[in-house]
Amino acid sequence: MNALHQDLVRIVGETDVLSETRDVAPFVADVRDRYNGSALCVVHPRSVDEVAAVVALCVEHSVPVQPQGGNTSLCGGSIPLADARGVILSLSRMRRIREIDAANNSITVEAGCVLADVQRAAVGAGRFYPVSLGAEGSCQIGGNIATNAGGTGVLRYGNTRENVLGLEVVLPNATVWNGLRGLRKDNTGFDLKHLFIGSEGLLGIVTAATLRLHPLNTHHIAAWLAPASIDAAVELLGLFQSSLGPKLTAFEIMNSAQLRMVLTHMPDRQSPLDPARPWHILVELGDSSDEPGLRASVENLLQAAISDGLLTDAAMASSEAQRAAMWNIRHSVTDAIKAAGRGIAHDIAVPISKIPEFLRRVSPALEQRFAGIQIVIVGHLGDGNLHYIPLFEFDAWDAFADPQAVVDEVHRMTYGVAMELGGTFSAEHGIGQYLLAEMREYKSEVELSLMRSIKHAFDPRGLFNPAKVIPQ
Ligand SMILES: Cc1cc2nc3c(=O)[nH]c(=O)nc-3n(C[C@H](O)[C@H](O)[C@H](O)COP(=O)(O)OP(=O)(O)OC[C@H]3O[C@@H](n4cnc5c(N)ncnc54)[C@H](O)[C@@H]3O)c2cc1C
Repeated sequence: MNALHQDLVRIVGETDVLSETRDVAPFVADVRDRYNGSALCVVHPRSVDEVAAVVALCVEHSVPVQPQGGNTSLCGGSIPLADARGVILSLSRMRRIREIDAANNSITVEAGCVLADVQRAAVGAGRFYPVSLGAEGSCQIGGNIATNAGGTGVLRYGNTRENVLGLEVVLPNATVWNGLRGLRKDNTGFDLKHLFIGSEGLLGIVTAATLRLHPLNTHHIAAWLAPASIDAAVELLGLFQSSLGPKLTAFEIMNSAQLRMVLTHMPDRQSPLDPARPWHILVELGDSSDEPGLRASVENLLQAAISDGLLTDAAMASSEAQRAAMWNIRHSVTDAIKAAGRGIAHDIAVPISKIPEFLRRVSPALEQRFAGIQIVIVGHLGDGNLHYIPLFEFDAWDAFADPQAVVDEVHRMTYGVAMELGGTFSAEHGIGQYLLAEMREYKSEVELSLMRSIKHAFDPRGLFNPAKVIPQ
């Protein structure tokens, strides 16, 4: 360790190598307090050359490398295992915006740029970077790319994958691949960037990216809706898509249990509608000009939906402050759940048409099996993606003799139905260390063996983010 430490200091400087336990602690604990890892040290390179030099050194010493961005992973992806003896390579010091090319609608940023800073820089150039999620004040572009982050803008703009034009990556053999191209068309062999997007740091360390920008939406219409049922919510989504589709930017849903949790634990939030209604939708439309008929079209659609019994109530935001307050509720869900009890998180997706069936099959079965369980649901209905979180209050949780057995059974009951309906057990959060058993259970041997081959081709010694994503 001494020799490695001295060499790391030579590369990045004394203050950018942390090895005291108290300094390393925040980097080995995850955002949901579920994982505690260990590491020899944390290194903060400031340039792609420093990243490559750190990687070369780790390879020379056969030391695992844990890439880390904002450490907001919800599946323990950024946390080394408890017995790991590796180096955490944090991208946090690499936060330069290298170029904004407004005419090309692109921005080139370093991997450590915080997502919200990139959004702001785009707005400064009269453009829009559409990836948006609750952790946008701390998650980083490199982490978004490594997890192919989704969020609330996917319905209109796609996942992170659809918004990446080019990448710069340090490979496990310490060479640098410069693929920072701002092109919409480039059919020159394999499109390598797609291998790194969503690879959770297993194949390379993203050091910079060229991202796709969009016209800035200067006008927004947001509304809080109470659909009569989950079937009505799906039907309503179809109505919005068929009549206002291109302007629809978000269609987010939460159930009453989730909304009440936010109101209880964040008393300054106020529900726009009666929180006792079973389902709540935050719908938003955005436009780059103030099309006079748009608001009227939304009002007409909502009026018709109320007349047809699809909606029991609706409230349109009449100011920017009201719109922000609605989003504030949506972005408070993670903290509210953390305060309310022990939630068992599932990030499932099924075809949108199958969401009602998924809920009808899973929720009653769980409620019958576990007394006191609360079904908390929040999600991106427009993408068929639900964060389905059966939750026990802390006392009830502490009373379980074998809590892991409860988690395993709840997982089996939930994922089993999602998979039967043609869905997935991880829609946007990735695999990390949380879902290794599910990878083994639900992925075919063909898929797993292809993933192992790709991993081996890039990283034959298995030093990058070991023991994650691909079960051995
Ligand atoms: C409140 C909250 C809300 C969230 N909402 C959403 C949501 O709506 N949609 C969604 O998709 N996710 C969501 N997440 C999950 C998380 O924010 C995203 O996965 C985010 O993209 C992770 O970015 P990060 O910088 O924090 O990465 P980290 O957590 O640091 O790392 C995540 C993974 O990427 C790897 N990695 C990080 N940086 C690099 C790099 N430069 N090169 C290679 N690998 C790297 C790590 O090794 C790890 O495997 C949410 C999280 C929180 C806490």
